[in-house]
Amino acid sequence: MASMPSGPCEALRHQGYQFFSPESSAALKPCLWCKRSLRGGEMCYKHQFYGIESHRCVQLTPTLRCNQRCLFCWRSFEHEYPGERECTPEEILAGIKGLQKRALSGFKPSPYVTPDRFAEALDPRHVAISLSGEPTLYSHLPELIDLLSREGYSTFLVSNGTHPEVLDRCKPFQMYVSLTAPCRETYLRICRPEEDYWDNLQESLLLLGSRRSAIRITLVSGLNDEDPRSYARIIQDSGATFAEVKGYMFLGYSRKRLERVNMPDHTRVRKFAGEIARHAGYRIRDENPGSRVVCLERES
Ligand code: SF4
Repeated sequence: MASMPSGPCEALRHQGYQFFSPESSAALKPCLWCKRSLRGGEMCYKHQFYGIESHRCVQLTPTLRCNQRCLFCWRSFEHEYPGERECTPEEILAGIKGLQKRALSGFKPSPYVTPDRFAEALDPRHVAISLSGEPTLYSHLPELIDLLSREGYSTFLVSNGTHPEVLDRCKPFQMYVSLTAPCRETYLRICRPEEDYWDNLQESLLLLGSRRSAIRITLVSGLNDEDPRSYARIIQDSGATFAEVKGYMFLGYSRKRLERVNMPDHTRVRKFAGEIARHAGYRIRDENPGSRVVCLERES
């Protein structure tokens, strides 16, 4: 069995990725908000919008592989793992607490981290399958989500929507599908998919009306911040419970592909989200200017 090339793996380890197995790209990495919340600081907008406690949330992916190369993606496209071994859902479940502990152990001596909070962080309640890579490329995704649910975790699944047949079998607490463009042409230009998955994406979006779900729009100035009516029509047709309009952040490897001017400020995000809401028949439910995100909710 071939092990992963050490180069990319090492580079990602330096960035804080914790791998579930040396032969697999399944990985976990606490996000910035998890660490902030652990120190008693601010939590992520998901706490404000949905009640998720950031220091009890595990951010992981069952694979780092992806079938798109979105211009705004924070990940590097050099770190690919062809031929990797897939971890089983049981291996991932068994690794979660140990890897989260390893990733957070440096915070224990901090005067800002109370013993209670640290103990809570080592006993996570939420799993966000959203780190990097496309989770529907992992062949046991529905089984992984079912296993996590049975163990009492609430799960958030974030997908690019290219595999509706997999999404249809997944039952997370909340399902996210990214909508990065109002039309096929813009989608192909921004997401640079391996194949034209626009129709697959539309099919995935149509699955959202029957479950607790959210459409994620990453708004990139000058690239996809146009035609709010078309976004609105797609959202309305999907019947998704929520739509999050979030400004692109000039971070990670996306800085090699985009410019700082592609980051919209919160005023722009709010205005665009407001136009979508008006045309789609959604209402503005909440907003977080620090994260430049506006949450819309279906009126019903
Ligand atoms: S679909 Fe997600 S992981 Fe894949 S390139 Fe786009 S932003 Fe990155």
